[in-house]
Amino acid sequence: MSSAEMEWKPRTKLGRMIFEGEITSIEEVFTEGLKIREPEIANILLPDLQEEVIDIGLVQKQTDAGEKSRFKAIVAVGNRDGYVGLGDGKAKQVRTAIEKGAVDARLNISVVRRGCGSWECGCEKPHSLPFEVKAKCGGVEIVLVPGPRGLGLVASEPAKIILGLAGVKDCWTRSYGATRTIPSFAYAVFRALQKTYRLVTPEDWVR
Ligand SMILES: [Zn+2]
Repeated sequence: MSSAEMEWKPRTKLGRMIFEGEITSIEEVFTEGLKIREPEIANILLPDLQEEVIDIGLVQKQTDAGEKSRFKAIVAVGNRDGYVGLGDGKAKQVRTAIEKGAVDARLNISVVRRGCGSWECGCEKPHSLPFEVKAKCGGVEIVLVPGPRGLGLVASEPAKIILGLAGVKDCWTRSYGATRTIPSFAYAVFRALQKTYRLVTPEDWVR
């Protein structure tokens, strides 16, 4: 743990278990189905976590005092090896919006199941996705299609960043609707990645 994390005072049960060394890996958090409610948990269990700002927009809000504008930042985090999170934060200052987005992204960290779902490849290494996944957010729909080794990420910039942070190396993307709305586009990509895990959990087989 770094000095900042040594000074951390956990506020949740999971936080205390990690602080006391009862849980030492991110895999345990997900297999136990526990929810990350403190950003420090992500920093400790994923020490290689990287952070990227996907978008900064201006949002206007009508208040009694007139029009109030704030910045909205969309931030992605990931370890480039199967864990990725996406979040957003609003504030009067850009830097604060990014900080809030970075915290939110850490609380939303998800597991991404990788694989070789490309019929053209069949190498069975986890360089792509195991199967096609799709998801929607706002007016955007995105489809992630497994690609052969060496293809790279055939995607627009926000999708490239998120897929890269998740550790997906080869993938095609198709998108429909208001694809220039970057926040919705980014969340659609993130939700599609979350489905790689959710679609194959034992609970899903029972349902
Ligand atoms: Zn392959």
